[in-house]
Amino acid sequence: MILLEGEPVAKRIREKARAAAAALSPPPSLVVLLVGNDPASETYVASKTRAAEEAGVRAETVRLPSGSSPGALLETVAAANRDPRVDGVLVQMPLELGHDPSRVLDALDPRKDVDGLHPENVGLLHQGRPRFVPCTPAGIVALLDHYAVPLAGRRVAILGRSGLVGRPLAALLTARDATVTVCHSRTRDLPAVSREAEILVAAIGRPGFVTAEFVQPGATVVDVGINRIESLTEAPENIRRSERVASAIASRGRTIVGDVDFDDVSRVAARITPVPGGVGLLTVAMLIHNTVLAAGLRRGGARVS
Ligand code: NAP
Repeated sequence: MILLEGEPVAKRIREKARAAAAALSPPPSLVVLLVGNDPASETYVASKTRAAEEAGVRAETVRLPSGSSPGALLETVAAANRDPRVDGVLVQMPLELGHDPSRVLDALDPRKDVDGLHPENVGLLHQGRPRFVPCTPAGIVALLDHYAVPLAGRRVAILGRSGLVGRPLAALLTARDATVTVCHSRTRDLPAVSREAEILVAAIGRPGFVTAEFVQPGATVVDVGINRIESLTEAPENIRRSERVASAIASRGRTIVGDVDFDDVSRVAARITPVPGGVGLLTVAMLIHNTVLAAGLRRGGARVS
């Protein structure tokens, strides 16, 4: 079994972005808008801004207090759109209840939309002429390419149809000549559909949901899930049995697990991504790539390859 580690791939993307950023003056700049103080979002935003700074991208987090009105958030988006010093704007999702994510995404300047979620960028992706590709699916394709996993003609099953992961990934892999099945909560006999796949991607947000029963022997398995576990009692039965999870909770009081039961699935899969240390690293690297790309496009200058 080959472990598809994210770090070597992410490092290469960050280094290319750093070289392209160094050619730009002033350096590319990213604004991350964070509403409230959800601990998971705080962690993601901190790792994004830290990685951006390390790659020579100026990164600023603009915080709105929990309970901020939709109007206040839209005004903050408009201010970042107007600011000529800002190249990229990202609104950390999920938003608190009361905000309509579609309205917020619609309000972004599509040329600063480094998460690739504005309808104009979604449309361009689905027309096969992408500008900003959403970071997680772009990272998954980069990961598969790095490990020379063939895509053309391969059967792929994607579990999850969100606008953030499943749908854009289906568009990208279809454009690469894979045969893609997108599954969701209403898919009948998910294990059987999944077992047809030579490449199985799990992006559903259910800890350890995908077991060996879902996996064709020799398949490549990509685990997108990031699920925080803070006590063993709240974890599903199969995850509770994992020694890694038990010892992480005993020592740190929490851990992160994917949507795939790693111990079970690694017995049958040929290749598998770890969580943490897999797709999440690529998401952050692709955000930096997209920010440098946005800076280059806005200034008509350097490109990041
Ligand atoms: P989401 O918007 O909640 O979408 C979840 C999708 O999974 C939906 O399409 C849902 O189906 C489907 N689903 C849920 N339960 C299912 C079940 N029992 N059987 C089959 N399908 C099921 O989630 P998301 O934003 O795409 O995120 C998915 C996971 O990826 C989460 O764990 C998230 O934290 C993680 N994530 C990780 C990264 C990273 O960088 N690694 C980035 C983004 C997200 P319906 O459409 O029918 O409801």
